[in-house]
Amino acid sequence: MGTSKKSQSPTCNFCGRSENEVGFLITGLNGHICDSCVTQAYDIVQQAMGGTGSANGSYKGKGASALNLKKLPKPIEIKEFLDQYVIGQDDAKRFLAVSVYNHYKRLMQQTGGDDVEIEKSNIIMVGSTGTGKTLLARTIAKLLQVPFTIVDATVLTEAGYVGEDIESILTRLLQVADYNVPEAERGIVFIDEIDKIARKGDNPSITRDVSGEGVQQGLLKLLEGSVVNVPPQGGRKHPDQKMIPVNTKNILFICGGAFDGIEKKIAQRLNTHVVGYGAVRNTSVLDKNNMMQYIAPQDLKSFGLIPEIIGRLPVLTYLNPLDRTALRAILTEPKNSIIKQYIKLFEMDGVKLTFEDAVFEYIVDKAVEYKLGARGLRSIVETIMMDAMFETPSDCPESFVITLDYAKRQLEKVNIAKLQNA
Ligand code: ADP
Repeated sequence: MGTSKKSQSPTCNFCGRSENEVGFLITGLNGHICDSCVTQAYDIVQQAMGGTGSANGSYKGKGASALNLKKLPKPIEIKEFLDQYVIGQDDAKRFLAVSVYNHYKRLMQQTGGDDVEIEKSNIIMVGSTGTGKTLLARTIAKLLQVPFTIVDATVLTEAGYVGEDIESILTRLLQVADYNVPEAERGIVFIDEIDKIARKGDNPSITRDVSGEGVQQGLLKLLEGSVVNVPPQGGRKHPDQKMIPVNTKNILFICGGAFDGIEKKIAQRLNTHVVGYGAVRNTSVLDKNNMMQYIAPQDLKSFGLIPEIIGRLPVLTYLNPLDRTALRAILTEPKNSIIKQYIKLFEMDGVKLTFEDAVFEYIVDKAVEYKLGARGLRSIVETIMMDAMFETPSDCPESFVITLDYAKRQLEKVNIAKLQNA
């Protein structure tokens, strides 16, 4: 196969040209392929993947014309993709999937032309720390077709104070878009820890609140959609630095925050509404262990976000606290779960790593007992595996089994309370 009888020299099995008619031939088990067919095949693969992207392939400057609604992943597909990496959090996933899909639609509408203008719906996700907000944002970034960046609200301060100016949020987006302004203007920004810029206390203070309300006012400008002068290198504004004007009208903002203690505000609100028979019945069906699910915009206001900001974040969703079942699933189920990562590490040394099932239950027990959450799972596994990772590359056993006894012994060697700061 792939060898023409006349010349006896190998030919490309795809286009039939012989070795001396092409740049070079790549030889496989049972045939050959030439360099130009490889290139063509690559293009076809790229086109075919255009709709869903690859797991590692984030935005690569595809340009406005590349958006084709038929090829874009639909909300259900986006959610299915998120399901591979993030356990639970169905509500947040659905909201994210719909918002991202609508964002594409809005961008494509720019090139259409009737009078109905779709406005953007920025999102806010509320959920305790370590429940997967950032993970959701990172995962969705893998299949986005527009520039995307994650910024941390804690570093932001009001202009003129130590810290970063609000505009630096857009610097990151510009960098991702290779300073292509029209591209950046269609991007998505995830602002993490938005709760850290809440006003401290319900009353506006007489002392200046440089990292609170002032920052919110600045952020409002971005969320509303306006032309903002962005320092190309970020950080402080320098008078001599040439600013880049960026219009934020079509940039989608997704905010996330733990809003520690907001459950109390939710409970207060729900209780104050309890008047009359009907209301009493309603509170009795409240799930007291997960008050977050009842979150409403006024709770964000009680927490210290200004009403204008809340108004600009019309989609409010929440993440559930992770229970035992979720923690157990996080250990082994996601596509790149913690356990799969360790199995891979050992595999690279030729060692087959296995775990007794009881070990997983034990790890979850400890994470719950010491309130370590999902973040703690990794530190616990790391502690259990440390000696094995130190020794096996030299010993090279064929396999290594983590038994419950072994796990317990390893973990008992360290002071687990230390892991709480992990
Ligand atoms: P947050 O941003 O809500 O504080 P992260 O998304 O940073 O939390 O989560 C911390 C780590 O915990 C993640 O890297 C991931 O390993 C794990 N994790 C948290 N929630 C989930 C989840 N729902 N599914 C899978 N892993 C999770």
